[in-house]
Amino acid sequence: MSNSDWLTRSRAAVWHPCTQMQRHETLPLVPISHGKGVWLYDFEGSRYLDAVSSWWTNLFGHANPAIIGAIKEQLDRLEHVMLAGFTHAPVVELSERLSAKTSGHLGHAFYASDGASATEIALKMSFHYWRNRGEAKKTGFVSLENGYHGETVGALSVTDVALFKDTYGPLLRQTIQVMSPDWRLAEAGEGKEAYALRAAQSLEAHLAEHHETTAALILEPLVQGAAGMAMHHPAYLKRARELCDRYRVHLIADEIAVGFGRTGSFFACQQAGIWPDLICLSKGITGGYLPLSAVMVTEDIFQAFYDEDVTRGFLHSHSYTGNPLACRAALAVLDLFERGDVISSNINTSRLINAMSDEVKALHYVRDLRNAGMIWAFEVDGAAPDFSRRLFAEGLKREVLLRPMGNTVYWMPPYVISEAEARHMVRGTLEALRALA
Ligand SMILES: *Cc1c(COP(=O)(O)O)cnc(C)c1O
Repeated sequence: MSNSDWLTRSRAAVWHPCTQMQRHETLPLVPISHGKGVWLYDFEGSRYLDAVSSWWTNLFGHANPAIIGAIKEQLDRLEHVMLAGFTHAPVVELSERLSAKTSGHLGHAFYASDGASATEIALKMSFHYWRNRGEAKKTGFVSLENGYHGETVGALSVTDVALFKDTYGPLLRQTIQVMSPDWRLAEAGEGKEAYALRAAQSLEAHLAEHHETTAALILEPLVQGAAGMAMHHPAYLKRARELCDRYRVHLIADEIAVGFGRTGSFFACQQAGIWPDLICLSKGITGGYLPLSAVMVTEDIFQAFYDEDVTRGFLHSHSYTGNPLACRAALAVLDLFERGDVISSNINTSRLINAMSDEVKALHYVRDLRNAGMIWAFEVDGAAPDFSRRLFAEGLKREVLLRPMGNTVYWMPPYVISEAEARHMVRGTLEALRALA
């Protein structure tokens, strides 16, 4: 089978996500046959460097033998068992090890299969917590402008991306968005920290007035991914923690994209020296191998549900909750973190890529080139309306998978990217930009 056979069959039978299918009349799908390390290969021998880690999920490369081995071993033992009334070794070990990663602050793990479901769980838990504590008026949610928390109906209510949200407005619950600490929006001469603290005043003003009806604040710590890799100073998170404490509102950290070392610490919140009340994890949790998400919560939250009364319990479930294969993949990912000192080797990789990106920065139409851990992004001034599609196509010609969001170009490569591969990624991007200039 050739690329074009797969492409035609896929277009006819598969409804692709986040896509106007008609676009595929002119913009071809890219059929992938296999992967290895940072590379994806099509059916005719072309290769593409996965500079977006397959939608931000992949950490240790495609076809990583350690993760594959762990999944295969688990597959011979137990593929799945329901988690209501039953338990198994991988889910217990994973919960204990994730708890240890939070130094025990978030010692209870609830599982689902994708990020949006983790958001749903966190919102429902927060609401139910207040109800169980006799504060049934605390039902409101606050999120940040341009925040993204997934696209199921509940998660979309706290997401603030017009393109995804506007059509479904009538289906959604009303929530409040407060000013984003995204430092690109700072006034000239205003520092990143000063801007973060100014943004926090918007949160403070809202909570001062509405805390009695507010259950939780949900945010993406340090990097608002779908907003275009919008970055903020950790001072915002510190302040948000103080305000949530003062006004008795849960802080939900959506670390679905930024967790597992992506921003330079295992959890992004650690850079602000805070712990949230609930943390949502997914994407990198299995290294990009199997669908899994988790919501980790404090002892206080867990205890609010612990009762003789069934209806005070958290009666939420998904068929594949705590799937043993996915948990085993996640354990292999934690092993890789512990064996390889990933966080410090990423610091080296990020220094290398920062040095390489000077040439991109020097382009007169490139603005705000920024970096947090293993995430880079910049804006392209004067970009045409179809810039994103055209850069994607130019990137593919140069063996680099880029997927700009509007005029924001970003790199979020797997952690195992070598120096030569990083050079390929940066050079390919530079040439693709020049082709469009
Ligand atoms: C991707 C993402 C989600 C949603 O995860 P899905 O698995 O795509 O449902 C939620 N929040 C953030 C910050 C994300 O990046």
